[in-house]
Amino acid sequence: MATERTFSIIKPDATRRNLTGAVTKMLENAGLRIVASKRIRITRHQAEGFYAVHRERPFFADLCGFMTSGPVVVQVLEGENAVARNREVMGATNPANADAGTIRKELAESIEANSVHGSDSLENAATEIAFFFKPEEIVG
Ligand code: AMP
Repeated sequence: MATERTFSIIKPDATRRNLTGAVTKMLENAGLRIVASKRIRITRHQAEGFYAVHRERPFFADLCGFMTSGPVVVQVLEGENAVARNREVMGATNPANADAGTIRKELAESIEANSVHGSDSLENAATEIAFFFKPEEIVG
C-alpha cells in the first residue's frame, strides 16, 4: 500500500460548534497524520475557484456562501491510502446516508453543512493541496 497525501477542510458548521478537535481526533483515529493545518477565512473568490467544477449546479451559490460564512481549517493528511481512508471516515455527502461512526453521521448538520471536505482522487488531492499550501508549510 502506498503512502499518500490528501486534502481536508473542516467546514464552517464544525468550527462554529467548536468541533475542530473532535473532527481531528476522528481523522487521527482513522490512521491519518495531519502534516499541515491552518485556520483561515476563505474568500468568495477562493470558494468559487475551489468549487469551480460545481459552477453549474443549483447549490453552487449557497455552497460558496456557506464556505465563506465562518472560519475553516484546511489540512493535509498523510497515510496509507490516505485518499480512500479519508473518504471512508468522512462518510457519505448527505449525513442521512452516512454510515454510523463516520464524521458526517456523528457530527454533520445537513447535506450542505456536512462538516468536512475530502479530496476524491489523488490527482485532485495534489491540486487542492497546492491551492491552499506552499510546499514548506507541509511537514511530514
Ligand atoms: P464535493 O465536491 O463532493 O465535496 O461537493 C461539494 C459540496 O457541495 C458537498 O460536500 C456539500 O457541502 C455540497 N453539496 C453537494 N451536493 C449538494 C446538494 N445536493 N445540496 C446542497 N449542497 C450540496
